[in-house]
Amino acid sequence: GTAQDSGDHYRIYAPELDTRWQHRLALEGELRHALERGQLQLHYQPQVDLESGRVVGAEALLRWFRPGHGLVPPLEFIPLLEETGMIVQVGAWVLEEACRNARHWQDAGLPPLRVAVNLSARQFQDGDIGALVGRVLTETGLEARWLELEITESIVMRNAEAVTRTLDRLRGQGVSHSLDDFGTGYSSLSYLQRLPVSRIKIDRSFITHITSDPHDAAIVQAVVGMAHSLGISVIAEGVETEGQLGYLRGLRCEEIQGYYFSRPLPAHDFVALLYEDRRLAPPAVDSGRVLLLV
Ligand code: C2E
Ligand code: MG
Ligand code: MG
Ligand code: MG
Repeated sequence: GTAQDSGDHYRIYAPELDTRWQHRLALEGELRHALERGQLQLHYQPQVDLESGRVVGAEALLRWFRPGHGLVPPLEFIPLLEETGMIVQVGAWVLEEACRNARHWQDAGLPPLRVAVNLSARQFQDGDIGALVGRVLTETGLEARWLELEITESIVMRNAEAVTRTLDRLRGQGVSHSLDDFGTGYSSLSYLQRLPVSRIKIDRSFITHITSDPHDAAIVQAVVGMAHSLGISVIAEGVETEGQLGYLRGLRCEEIQGYYFSRPLPAHDFVALLYEDRRLAPPAVDSGRVLLLV
């Protein structure tokens, strides 16, 4: 490549840079400004209790409204935020925004619900999660018990001792933790027992074929049984059909999250759903239940 003096700085013209790299640089440049320009927003996906049929939680999911491109899904920009370290700043904003909204909904008289926030490994490495969570809860006035932090096995594997210590301390303050994408990582029973998580989220990839693939069905059944025997509750991710729902009910899975009930929604639409008090339809009744209902 050649370097050309363009006044107060050098511009590098490098034809050998492939287009993917250029694309990445452009994306990175735009992402650096996304937060300050108000282009980041959170969508909320309901988490529904299978017994009551009610929304008991919401997962906050990051969206980027990229000018000229519309809404960009997280998988297209979160890896970049992680590689560049920008996720520390953005992640802090996500936590703040989610807690602020959850508190706001409570203040508006809606039944309180858990808000779940995804964390990245970089936030544990480069940031002080413990201090951040404490500050955000104080500033927003949200009680710790309404906040759930979603971590993955890969976050824990990186630095099990330090991460566990931080999570333990937060749990002592009332914050709960869930293990996201369960089954896709290095799941180990001994880990699960030692981790301070109160919930596992079974990954969507196991749920998709649960009614047609006996292997997936067996895995989910084993995972639910194992979790319950450890006193850990289970939420199934990516539930899209009534058949999947029925199967999970049969396993005594506690909660579901998925398109069957609702896609992730902008805050405004999520609130509308709460106001409607939309619930999951009760299970198809067997004859015993019918008699009770009549
Ligand atoms: P995740 O934490 O496992 O979030 C669940 C993903 O599954 C979401 O994708 C959600 O839209 C999708 N999903 C839920 N129900 C269904 C369903 O029934 N069918 C299908 N096909 N998909 C369903 P999304 O919003 O694209 O997010 C992808 C991932 O990006 C998340 O996976 C999470 O790992 C990451 N992410 C999102 N927001 C944040 C954030 O604020 N911070 C961090 N660190 N990561 C985030
Ligand atoms: Mg998650
Ligand atoms: Mg997940
Ligand atoms: Mg995830």
